Amino acid sequence: MSFEQLRLIEPVLKALKEEGYSEPTPIQQQSIPYVLDKRDLLGCAQTGTGKTAAFAIPLLQLLAETTPAVQKGPRPIRALILTPTRELAIQIQESLQAYGKHLPLKHQVIFGGVSQVPQVEALRRGVDILVATPGRLLDLISQNIVTLRDIKFFVLDEADRMLDMGFVHDVQRVIIKLPENRQTLFFSATMPPEIQKLAAMILRNPAKVEV
Ligand code: AMP
Repeated sequence: MSFEQLRLIEPVLKALKEEGYSEPTPIQQQSIPYVLDKRDLLGCAQTGTGKTAAFAIPLLQLLAETTPAVQKGPRPIRALILTPTRELAIQIQESLQAYGKHLPLKHQVIFGGVSQVPQVEALRRGVDILVATPGRLLDLISQNIVTLRDIKFFVLDEADRMLDMGFVHDVQRVIIKLPENRQTLFFSATMPPEIQKLAAMILRNPAKVEV
């Protein structure tokens, strides 16, 4: 199967070609059509399978297709990608940069342990996709610097690791702030009962993919 067969738009296909990707990995083949069909997704996949691109590519495409041509003031955050560590957050941001380089979308990564000032300045200029670790996100929400009220797409990445690292309450505090009317993509390398419970709480009739 080719990326062309996955109904991807030209600016995305061009970026993938430039990355040297010749064909989608199995998780990408399975996930991308569901996400483009606006389905919620429960993905069981390890790092190294191409799972980042499996959510990042269709997310960029859906956002590009729904970006208003004219907007007064900065655009609101429409997509939130929540991930447990700063390293993963940076990797996701780099993937968005690579696959979205021919699209007029803005993304920003926020994580703790560093000054919030540059992160806040970028947020004020308007961001379409926010990649965040839970602690710094909640911090910026409580300061009214970030609002999740316009979120249309929510990705929970490495959910099992999030729980292992003790972020379960933080994740729940983020989830209750999200609009009900959204598309949710949930990825975990393992599916123990707590993860299945969390998935059932936040997904609506999800398509299931496993590699
Ligand atoms: P991930 O599982 O998201 O951590 O991705 C693992 C690695 O595979 C990353 O370095 C990606 O750049 C690379 N990758 C993802 N999708 C493809 C693809 N379709 N073809 C070649 N490399 C890919």
